Amino acid sequence: PPPAEKFEYQAEVSRLMDLIVNSLYSNKEVFLRELISNASDALDKLRYLSVTQPELSKDYADLDIRIYADKENGIITLTDSGIGMTRQELVDCLGTIAQSGTAKFLKALKDSKDAGGDNNLIGQFGVGFYSAFLVADRVVVSTKSPKSDKQYVWEGEADSSSYTIQEETDPQLIIPRGTRITLHLKKDDKGFADPERIQKLVKNYSQFVSFPIYTWQEKGYTKEVEVEDDPAEAKKEDTDDQTEKKKKTKKVVERYWDWELTNETQPIWLRTPKEVTTEEYNEFYRKTFNEYLDPLASSHFTTEGEVEFRSILYVPPVSPMGKDDLVNQKTKNIRLYVKRVFISDDFDGELFPRYLSFVKGVVDSHDLPLNVSREILQESRIVRIMKKRLVRKAFDMILGISLSENRDDYEKFWDNFGKHIKLGCIEDRENHKRLAPLLRFFSSQSENDMISLDEYVENMKPEQKAIYYIASDSITSAKNAPFLEKLMEKELEVLYLVEPIDEVAIQSLKAYKEKDFVDIGKEDLDLGDKNEEKEAAVKKEFGQTCDWIKKRLGEKVASVQISNRLSASPCVLVSGKFGWSANMEKLMKQQSA
Ligand code: ADP
Ligand code: MG
Repeated sequence: PPPAEKFEYQAEVSRLMDLIVNSLYSNKEVFLRELISNASDALDKLRYLSVTQPELSKDYADLDIRIYADKENGIITLTDSGIGMTRQELVDCLGTIAQSGTAKFLKALKDSKDAGGDNNLIGQFGVGFYSAFLVADRVVVSTKSPKSDKQYVWEGEADSSSYTIQEETDPQLIIPRGTRITLHLKKDDKGFADPERIQKLVKNYSQFVSFPIYTWQEKGYTKEVEVEDDPAEAKKEDTDDQTEKKKKTKKVVERYWDWELTNETQPIWLRTPKEVTTEEYNEFYRKTFNEYLDPLASSHFTTEGEVEFRSILYVPPVSPMGKDDLVNQKTKNIRLYVKRVFISDDFDGELFPRYLSFVKGVVDSHDLPLNVSREILQESRIVRIMKKRLVRKAFDMILGISLSENRDDYEKFWDNFGKHIKLGCIEDRENHKRLAPLLRFFSSQSENDMISLDEYVENMKPEQKAIYYIASDSITSAKNAPFLEKLMEKELEVLYLVEPIDEVAIQSLKAYKEKDFVDIGKEDLDLGDKNEEKEAAVKKEFGQTCDWIKKRLGEKVASVQISNRLSASPCVLVSGKFGWSANMEKLMKQQSA
């Protein structure tokens, strides 16, 4: 066979390997989680492809992961019957960084360094294949892709900037398909090659892997063996009881080694919600999405009837892209399965509208075809119905947070995802009823705690017909607006819309519980206190003054009018009924600047 060929790692890989080894030294055991997660991904890929290409798995139908710990020699072998890698894939996947998990790790590492550095936190992240070098000084990956008729061996050493690839030559190591990873443990880490320890780690880290994980375990069973009669004893017994003919036996434990199923393979979403604990849901969330914080809420449900699917949805505790970033980015937040087969996590609005793309979860459909493609997803009536149900459940879940005893939770939600909800008001008319109760604003009567529209409506004066708001760029400037005077005097509450998106969102809603939203900065604000007689008299008296002012200001204003809406200020600039509000005008100017 051709000799081993030597390759240099991409520079980032070497740096990453250094980082991993230096920051995760106290949490080395994550290597096993990472390797199992890769094996599980590889099995997912194979299962998915074999739906349309059954020949891929014809040689070897079992989809499983096997872990063998050789205590004596300090070697761990992990084998999966997944998709394997071609020679080129070995170079691309294990020699360069293009992978999401790894990128996330680098970012987390940077964030946590910026925040003072917390190694434990980093330990919760997906750090990928290279974590093998936490415990091993030599790693051998022997792999066979169904796309190739050859099996290749990748070999790398800790603290080296290069690796080698060659063809597998040992006939004993030839596998029908998949990947075998051999870890030659470092001197101080040989303790990991202990079947019991491996079993514990698998149980702890990988109970949500949906393929069977077998570990090589020593087992025992007791059996009864006959005992040779002691002649002296026998004689004695003879005299005691002539008829006792029973042979003597004793129990011995017979030891042997065998593969033992070590994980529970029933996916959590197939279990009965009543039987799953919050801790299990949270753990599933953290492990599935590689997160270190628990979700704010979860919802586990089954739908039957027209379409059948099961799902667990989550509201994350923080916005991954930062609060100010809106949602254009595609996410990998929803994992779609069809009858337990993982199909895709690459969606762009098919299952959730853009503004709800922060919702994470799994969806397992019974009705979609296994070979469902992107095009089918976009066209499918079933998917449209699923989307509708999912969106409703997501709203229920969010509403649930807002109703919880713990006000902090909803504050957290609003802080992170308030913008998304407002965006929803603009983009999704159909769900206005569900979106509006989720909104929160400061107001003239609540400057420190945000209130909901329900709270506003409850607080309305008996004769009050509208929900008043003022749009401005800060609470301070909203508070000082002259328009506010009259309403304050009458103790009418006014919402402060201080974020750029607020005004557009409110205008899209138009009304809440049949009360119109009214901008107090617009002309002809009717506070229900018109006195026609008095107005006519004032108009008569000051009509000429108005004409004179209009003449002096010319084109700068549209008109000059007498108003009853001020109490302390002599005059105020308002915007026309049909024009942009002052705030909008400012925003538009900023946009075009
Ligand atoms: P990630 O899993 O986030 O993609 P990893 O560093 O864990 O990053 O793995 C890098 C890549 O190597 C994987 O995306 C996959 O393509 C490949 N790979 C790793 N382990 C296996 C395996 N057991 N079988 C097939 N491919 C694998
Ligand atoms: Mg991985």
